[in-house]
Amino acid sequence: MIKVTNYTVQKKKDNYIVRSNEPIRCSCGAEVLKRGSKGRYIVGNDGTKKRYILKRVYCPACDKLHMIVPDFIEPYKQYEKSAIDGVRNGTNDCSAADDSTIYRWKKL
Ligand SMILES: [Zn+2]
Repeated sequence: MIKVTNYTVQKKKDNYIVRSNEPIRCSCGAEVLKRGSKGRYIVGNDGTKKRYILKRVYCPACDKLHMIVPDFIEPYKQYEKSAIDGVRNGTNDCSAADDSTIYRWKKL
C-alpha cells in the first residue's frame, strides 16, 4: 500500500475515482507500473457508503502489487479515517458502526 496526501477525487456515476496528483513511487524508491484499479466501499461518518476506485500499481523491484490509498482511508478499515479518529478521541460516537466495530477501534 502506498499512501498519498495529494490527490483528486472525481465522481463518476456512483463511483469516486481517486487520482494522485503526485508521481507514485514504491516505498523502496523504485518507479512503479500501473496495474488497473480496484473498487472499495468506504462508510462515512453519517453511514453513507461510497465506492472509491483506487489505483493499483506494480513494483518490479519488490515484485509486489500496491494499492494507492488516499489519506482519508485507513488501511484495511471500512470507515473513513475521520470517523475512526473521532471514536478514538471521544468526539464522535459514529452511530453508523456497530458496537463490535467500535470496540475494535478503541482497543487498537
Ligand atoms: Zn518496491
